[in-house]
Amino acid sequence: MKVTSVEAVAVQGLAAPWMFCIIRTDDGITGYSEFGEGLVANGMAGLVKDLSRFIVGQDPRQVEKLYMDMFRGTQSVYGGATWQAMAGIELALWDVKAKALGVPVYELFGGPTRTEQRVYWSHLATYQAGSAEKLGAKPIKSLDDACKLVEEAKAAGYDCFKTNILIPAEKGQPWTGIRQGRSGPHDQPLTRELLNTAVRQIKAFRETAGPEMDICLDVNVNFKAAGQIRLGQALAEHDLFWMEIDNLDAKSLRMVKDHAGVPICSGEQKLGPINYLPYYEERAMDVVKVDVQWQGFTPARNAAKMAEVFDMNIAPHNFNGHLSTFQSMNLCASINNVLISESDPAQVKWRDELVTHVPEIKNGRVTIPTRPGWGTDLDEKALKKYAVKL
Ligand SMILES: [Mg+2]
Repeated sequence: MKVTSVEAVAVQGLAAPWMFCIIRTDDGITGYSEFGEGLVANGMAGLVKDLSRFIVGQDPRQVEKLYMDMFRGTQSVYGGATWQAMAGIELALWDVKAKALGVPVYELFGGPTRTEQRVYWSHLATYQAGSAEKLGAKPIKSLDDACKLVEEAKAAGYDCFKTNILIPAEKGQPWTGIRQGRSGPHDQPLTRELLNTAVRQIKAFRETAGPEMDICLDVNVNFKAAGQIRLGQALAEHDLFWMEIDNLDAKSLRMVKDHAGVPICSGEQKLGPINYLPYYEERAMDVVKVDVQWQGFTPARNAAKMAEVFDMNIAPHNFNGHLSTFQSMNLCASINNVLISESDPAQVKWRDELVTHVPEIKNGRVTIPTRPGWGTDLDEKALKKYAVKL
């Protein structure tokens, strides 16, 4: 079998395009993947095109060899977006190989280790606060509106959700959320106002959720370490499942973990086990975020297996289209150290159209797929319909 083409497609997402990679072969098997950060869609698509020189004409089933060809061949542009584009290709190659053997991807790695996976309702109230119109949802204009979503998650059977700090507006105006450094000046201050806002929100969410639900708060890159510690201490009485932080320095994260008084989850942007290692050695995280779409399957799995050695569980980062959920479920079904995985119940309406199968989710549990490959194909007609022109 030989690869005849490698292609990257960008499709309209909620905040940024979703990226998909399509690998075609001369014996009719097509491999699909969802990958990378759509914020840099033009760069991602260009990188996949550049990397295809290592793949076209090769046997797609030698996934490890081809990955190493790309890895060694791009040492002069090490890491970052290059690795994310390599992930797109690697993931699509696993899909080809598993389909060629007629098995799910996790079967290639000794799975399944489970038949279902607990997931949390992610971006609860965050997406509705920022993109109500795109979601066909009601805008959030009060804390009561946000608490209704907690009730909705509970009624749907979820026992865990994650939110971000919501920013109140003038009475009757839609609220917004803070994510990814949009909190204002790059001093990243935790102001008294933000601290009080966060405490009011989490207190109300805990009262609505009751003691049986787990609550996570993602603060991304919005505060420096001192602010993270202060926020954690102020929220500790509401029993967070974790506070999530995007961090670039293992020692500062260890300091936060030691003093914040809440469990710390981090790691979603780390690519490959080598970049997780300083955090593991520092014991800087309670829960390790691992993104399959950004790293590729083998690097993500290796990072997860290494976390197991350090006595930690992982939580897959998964906020894109459905194919990324299938990829993440294949990771969960191939390892033994998963705390919980991410899931976005509220999303743009066309997300379902992009795949031939949607994930089966019941009572906050995803059924591990059993179909060959990832467990779903992409609908290429739908990809064209919602494509973003690059
Ligand atoms: Mg996060």
